[in-house]
Amino acid sequence: MIKAVYPGSFDPITKGHLDIIRRCSYVFDEVTVAVLNNPNKTGWFSPEERVSQIEKVVSALPNVKVKSFTGLLVDFMDEEGSDVIIKGLRSTSDFDYECPMALINKKLNKSKETMFMMSNSKYSYLSSTAVKQVALFKGCLQGLIPSELEFEVRERAKKYEGEI
Ligand code: ADP
Repeated sequence: MIKAVYPGSFDPITKGHLDIIRRCSYVFDEVTVAVLNNPNKTGWFSPEERVSQIEKVVSALPNVKVKSFTGLLVDFMDEEGSDVIIKGLRSTSDFDYECPMALINKKLNKSKETMFMMSNSKYSYLSSTAVKQVALFKGCLQGLIPSELEFEVRERAKKYEGEI
């Protein structure tokens, strides 16, 4: 039984994230999407909101669960009984950013393996930050985030319009 953890901010989840989750669910027995709860960095959505958004869009994948975590990823993985970290790679800049993190996690706990999955070329330009920019300027979100979340993201953008 190989359990993988897919950590991230998911503020909000994009179609690129969802594509990685779906493909991981075919490769691993169980996948936990781990929403980082960083008290020093608030996003558009609370960790609870992000968890429920992701739950909504992964409901057809029976071996995928969603949780939020604080603190060290490797400690959360111990609680989950998982030894595999999945990271999505859009570009070499993602790789440059992820490389030291993978090595630090290895240093912290040598039983943890980081595995990289290439982004679907359809989504390699996509990030949560880009989605928020498009939403702020009232652009079309179709194809960027799961359609079930479009209303919620558009509504939340209104709260941040004054900050442009
Ligand atoms: P973002 O960079 O969009 O803010 P996160 O910090 O939530 O996203 O990223 C979580 C994980 O998902 C990271 O491993 C990141 O490289 C990966 N990821 C983000 N966007 C995509 C995408 N469009 N395709 C594949 N992987 C992605």
